[in-house]
Amino acid sequence: PVEHYRSSTPKSGSLYERAAAVMPGGDTRSVTYHDPYPSFVASGSGCRLRTEDGETLLDFLNNYTQSVLGHAPPAVVEAVTERFERGNGFGAPTTEAVALAERLVDRVPSVEQVRFANSGTEATMNAIRGAMAYTGNETILKIEGGYHGTHDTVEVAVDATGREHQGIPRDVEDRVLTTPFNDPEALKEAFATAGDDIACFILEPLMGVAGGLPADESFLHTARDLTEDHGVPLVFDEVMTFRLGYGGAQERYGVTPDLTAFGKFIGGGLPVGAFGGREDIMSVFHPHEGVADHSGTFNANPATMAGGIATLDALDEAAITDLNRLGDRLRAGVREVAADHDHPLRVTGDGSMFQLHLTDETVTDWASSAAGTEAFEDLFLAMRNRGVFMAPRGMGNLSTPMTDAEVDTFLETLDAALDALPETSS
Ligand code: PMP
Repeated sequence: PVEHYRSSTPKSGSLYERAAAVMPGGDTRSVTYHDPYPSFVASGSGCRLRTEDGETLLDFLNNYTQSVLGHAPPAVVEAVTERFERGNGFGAPTTEAVALAERLVDRVPSVEQVRFANSGTEATMNAIRGAMAYTGNETILKIEGGYHGTHDTVEVAVDATGREHQGIPRDVEDRVLTTPFNDPEALKEAFATAGDDIACFILEPLMGVAGGLPADESFLHTARDLTEDHGVPLVFDEVMTFRLGYGGAQERYGVTPDLTAFGKFIGGGLPVGAFGGREDIMSVFHPHEGVADHSGTFNANPATMAGGIATLDALDEAAITDLNRLGDRLRAGVREVAADHDHPLRVTGDGSMFQLHLTDETVTDWASSAAGTEAFEDLFLAMRNRGVFMAPRGMGNLSTPMTDAEVDTFLETLDAALDALPETSS
């Protein structure tokens, strides 16, 4: 697949050389890289991307779940443009931030108050900060492999290869505890040992980057009970999973956290994050009466807020139900395709999020998910060469412009790509 890829993407190849001269790795986002080089995208419309090489790709990556309405949805483009034309940022609040905050509070009952930031990273960082300020504790409990962005605290235990991430102070590691996913007994032990020192327990209701694995509802209920017993805020990272239900994955799985982190599509495609939850916890951020600080030049940027409003209004219950139905269809289809091939293909996920795994093992956690990710790059390229784009490590998700026809194309492409894959990658 590599030779085919090189010959169909000569312009991307030379753009990559140019890029790598001025940016280490040719981009400023490590996850976009794959061998031999990533292709450059010129534009996107609906569920299709146009590359600089003139190819059209069906987009099953959607900027890692951000483009839930597909690319350049007219209502969002119009709302953002209209707002930007009236000024691009003021050192003063705007009505758009109030309106977007009201929508989040309305959709997610656990969120009584909310604050805006510029990325999912900032959202989890400030949720954790709020929990620390509220409890007076400094120990963070997270899931092994759980990905919550790129600030120091959450970059502990995120590399399945065991590679140490340098540049993170060792004393940060000392105050981050990890516990295995979907293991209620280990969680009970963690709380029995350290429960009274914990500032928060942070997890995704469906592990995104770490395998596309939904949490067992019983595990979430155990988490809810233990955190409540110890007065520890339970933080859901719904940066990716908010798309799973009108009120996020917490509504879908029926468990109520104390704080929630948001990101991705809630800014209509502009940089965004948000964190919110119980009013008594969020009040630590009150500028005069609170004890914690949160500020930022671009927080609640008016155009971002306008894009978020237009996006949330379009992503109603019916749209989410339809996306989730398409996801069920895709996963069932992948299992049928897998049954027809010798390659050990598995699929995980829920709703409109899925992950393919080239592994024989049942995927239950971070380690078993990591087992097939390296091998996946060949399959990724084979699919990419046939016009279907997804994450090089196997993650995918759906957008509202997609129909059954695009899911069929995905499955046919997967079938053909597996046919073309040498036996050695199984
Ligand atoms: N939390 C989760 C669950 C994520 O998937 C991501 C990013 N993919 C983040 C946090 C960080 O968001 P951002 O990249 O906007 O900083």
